This record gives sequence, structure tokens and C-alpha cells, in this order.
Amino acid sequence: MEKRCCCGGRMVLTIRNVVYQGSVEIENVPVLSCERCERNEIAEAVKDDLKKLLDDLSCAAVPGKVNFEEVSEWAHVLVQYAENAHVPLRDMLGERIDDLLDLYLLAKTLNDEDWMREIQGRLKQVI
Ligand SMILES: [Zn+2]
Repeated sequence: MEKRCCCGGRMVLTIRNVVYQGSVEIENVPVLSCERCERNEIAEAVKDDLKKLLDDLSCAAVPGKVNFEEVSEWAHVLVQYAENAHVPLRDMLGERIDDLLDLYLLAKTLNDEDWMREIQGRLKQVI
């Protein structure tokens, strides 16, 4: 998860809140930030999910808050990773996949097809 900035500085993972079009606050966005020149960029792994969210928001345009962690599995994993930087990223990801598989089994046991579909969608984001 470490990257070099174009200035040669080290880019570290930080979790930010981003305000979209001055009205919607998007919480828990994983951002790589340069220690030297303070340049920021959205973490590669969540770019697609963020793009999709912004597309959805531009249709709805309702002021308020969105927790990015809830719509993007990668954001969820990266937030956990940022909080527990001593745990390797692949362990974090593995743990999240285990959790989702547990939930999937539960949904299947309850025969809840909507829930099963939702969990499948989440799993697809990270597998
Ligand atoms: Zn830099």
C-alpha cells in the first residue's frame, strides 16, 4: 500500500472526508498523501467504487452524508488497515472475506435472497 509520489516523497494511506459539490459529505475515503509535498490522490483500489458513488450522487443530488466504507468493500478494508497498520493488508482482506462468507451462509440459511444478492455484490468487489 506504499507508493512514491512524483516528487520522490513517500505516500502514506490516510482516511479523509471529502465534500462532493459542496453538499454531500463522503466519509472514510482512503487517500494516499505525500509526506513531502502534501499531494493527495485517491487510493487506486477504491477509484472505481468512488466513481460509481459519484455517478449515483449526481443523479440523486441529496445533501447529506454518505459513508463510503458502507458502499465500497475496499474502502472498508483500507479503513481497517489504516487503523491497524501493523496487520498486513492481505490479512485484513482475508478477514473481511471470511466475515462476508459467514454472513452469506447466514443469509442462505434464512433463505433471504435479497440479502444473499447484496453479499454476493460485496464479495465480488474484493475477490
Ligand atoms: Zn510529493
